[in-house]
Amino acid sequence: MSDPSRPDGPKIIAVANQKGGVGKTTTAINLAAALVENGLKVLVVDLDPQGNASTGFGIEREDRDYTTYDLLLDDAPLNEVIHPTTISGLGIVPATVDLSSADIELISNEKRSFLLHDALRQVAMDSYGWDFILIDCPPSLNILTVNAMVAAHSVLVPLQSEFFALEGLSQLMLTLREVRQSANPELRIEGIVLTMYDQRNNLSQQVEQDARDNLGDLVFDTVIPRNVRISEAPSFAMPVLAYDPRSKGAEAYRALAQELVMKNNRVAA
Ligand code: ADP
Ligand code: MG
Repeated sequence: MSDPSRPDGPKIIAVANQKGGVGKTTTAINLAAALVENGLKVLVVDLDPQGNASTGFGIEREDRDYTTYDLLLDDAPLNEVIHPTTISGLGIVPATVDLSSADIELISNEKRSFLLHDALRQVAMDSYGWDFILIDCPPSLNILTVNAMVAAHSVLVPLQSEFFALEGLSQLMLTLREVRQSANPELRIEGIVLTMYDQRNNLSQQVEQDARDNLGDLVFDTVIPRNVRISEAPSFAMPVLAYDPRSKGAEAYRALAQELVMKNNRVAA
């Protein structure tokens, strides 16, 4: 019998923005950790050759024997590339720099945009019991990000609270529309989350106002503050929720997870 809390298997969300340093990886790591605190099971797929999400969960480079590269380009089964993390209920498919050659290697592959989609929908996918799959995208609108958008149900966009933040969005939306037209008509925008928000800074407030005026309900109520504990946590190979559970950063990601769970009506099985 199907589980009413997970009607269609895992909810797959691409965390994407072609700008680097806007908080994609930080959001993927900490949102995953916050969802797991709610008893949900979360798989993070590291789709960035820089492998920052893998590092952030303490997966050493020498332990990345099976990676996203094998999943996409060597037909490795999903269950063989998932690495456990120190957090129960949270798995990761790690990435290494190998993945940076995907663009070139895939040029002549007709199914190049569907590789992640197909990999995440292998037979018996449901039996893995993941509630959410979060895909940490590279800072580019390349074939890897397109794979994420084709595989995903929705896109979650971290937006850094700084000048020009909104301008980059139009390019992202264009790619999203193209993916809808060509491969994934159901693709939704999960939401836009303001990151590195500084309450004392007029610019942060202005960016927030512009975002809410222009994008309305697409913008999450929760904003992620600029918080030094968030930036320290990766060097201790843990989410800020584990590194400093009472920090403002940890609280903000918990609030974001709550919003996401409410929107998706997902509860722990
Ligand atoms: P992206 O994945 O979009 O390139 P990251 O998540 O790696 O961005 O974030 C870029 C840098 O900013 C990292 O050093 C990260 O630790 C830091 N950072 C991200 N979010 C915050 C925040 N809310 N407060 C402070 N530092 C942050
Ligand atoms: Mg990143």
